[in-house]
Amino acid sequence: MTTTTTRAARPRAGGDNEGQWALGHREPLNHNEEFKATEDPLAVRERIEQTYAREGFASIPSDDLRGRFRWWGLYTQRRPGIDGGRTATLEPHELDDEYFMMRIRVDGQALTVRQLRAIADVSERYGRGTADVTDRQNIQLHWVRIEDVPAIWSALEEAGLSTTEACGDVPRAILGSPVAGIAAAELVDPTPAILEIKRRYIGNPELSNLPRKFKTAISWQWDTVPEINDVSFVGVVHPEHGPGFDLLVGGGLSTSAHFAQRLGAWVPLEEIPEVWEGVCAIFRDYGYRRLRNRARLKYLMADWGAARFREVLEGEYLHRSLVDGPAAEAPRAPIDHVGIHEQKDGRVYVGVTPIVGRVRGTTLRGLADAVERHGGGRIAFTPLQKVVVLDVDPAQAEALVTDLDALGLPARPSAWRRGTMACTGIEFCKLAIVDTKDRATALVEDLETRLADVEPQLGQPVGISLNGCPNSCARIQTSDIGLKGQIVRDADGNRVPGYQVHLGGQLGAEAGFGRKIRGHKVTEAELGDYVERVVRRYVADRQGDETFAQ
Ligand code: SF4
Repeated sequence: MTTTTTRAARPRAGGDNEGQWALGHREPLNHNEEFKATEDPLAVRERIEQTYAREGFASIPSDDLRGRFRWWGLYTQRRPGIDGGRTATLEPHELDDEYFMMRIRVDGQALTVRQLRAIADVSERYGRGTADVTDRQNIQLHWVRIEDVPAIWSALEEAGLSTTEACGDVPRAILGSPVAGIAAAELVDPTPAILEIKRRYIGNPELSNLPRKFKTAISWQWDTVPEINDVSFVGVVHPEHGPGFDLLVGGGLSTSAHFAQRLGAWVPLEEIPEVWEGVCAIFRDYGYRRLRNRARLKYLMADWGAARFREVLEGEYLHRSLVDGPAAEAPRAPIDHVGIHEQKDGRVYVGVTPIVGRVRGTTLRGLADAVERHGGGRIAFTPLQKVVVLDVDPAQAEALVTDLDALGLPARPSAWRRGTMACTGIEFCKLAIVDTKDRATALVEDLETRLADVEPQLGQPVGISLNGCPNSCARIQTSDIGLKGQIVRDADGNRVPGYQVHLGGQLGAEAGFGRKIRGHKVTEAELGDYVERVVRRYVADRQGDETFAQ
């Protein structure tokens, strides 16, 4: 494990104490830093198993309940019936329900049918059948009781799954291509690097107290939203050294969006874990810990710039120079893997589309049955809330598509179903102001009728993202139509749920953040009319193959 040297980097302009450990500022400057300094949050697992699961919800002290539990993928969910307009006015304990959201990390790996069945069993037995596919390839369960957590861990771990560091100020689940190892154009499968990072560092106390969350994406192709992760490795061919990975650092959305910056370095597959550790350790040591809303790596990167970041990485952490390298090629449109596609071994993979990632335990069980009936045997999730069945015999593909369609998982979805994403929203999230999942589902069904005539002219789907609050769990700033939940005034002056609109964001080759149009807000009730107007105008006015963002 790398440890930082004492060579001091220049403090930020102004020289304020930002709580950077490497500059000697070890005293905790906020409550989160205090409870992390008191004890490694990973230690809470023993108390969950030995005490809280036996004595019940009331026995859990606040720092464990709202703090350390996250290190094991557990958040209290929102108490039902609390109006979104009251979210900001209530104390945390007033928003807490006695049930938990539990996040299962997948780390870009394909699941086996057995693992899928284990998740379906846990969902049905302990989570009232809930199971959402998130935009970080995790599965989220809801309605989990503290009494059941040890049994859930035991069932998941027996199947080779875990919730370790699924939330909290830690390295979160690593995004990986759902088609790693099988994609026709892939020159190097980065899966061994993902597995090695997981083996060495996840659950490792050396990296379990970061300033805030740390997101990673590793893929041969540009299908893991690398520009908005804290650290990303994307496949590229070096003219002299051959296939390797381009290194990007410091991306993230939330309330202040930043794209990751290239360090200009080329990293071979076998060096990814070491370089990843160096970047993560810089974040641990130099990351800002004073204010939670400035604690992501993107703020340090914005102050340092890519050249200085690389200098510190090479000089203080790797103790060697990295090889200069070319930029990875970004696609013009998002790669979502929906439909039937050839693998390099002659088989095919089939990408299907749950609406905004929402499935049920019963859906996962049906998916497992269908995969067993038609071969394949492996299933992956995508960062765009899609599901991909891998390794399918081409002769079985259409039968599989028919079975998945019957489960509500179409391989040939409408453009609206394919392009719409939504965060957890008011149903379960304590920060939410408005509903998202149900609203987005209704919107998709509405648009499928209203805009059936223009759909064939679209070319690529128009991306629509719904967030329940100013955070950006559904990536509103990089969507064609980004909708940020807030309370707005309707035509009669009443305060009602609605959205601030961001228009024209995109990822990939022409990445840019959507424009927040001042005063441009829409109520929930007006949403269908609004999206129809915007899309019809886009279709009528565009020149050639101009995208929505252009
Ligand atoms: Fe919750 Fe806000 Fe994230 Fe939605 S965007 S899941 S409401 S924090």
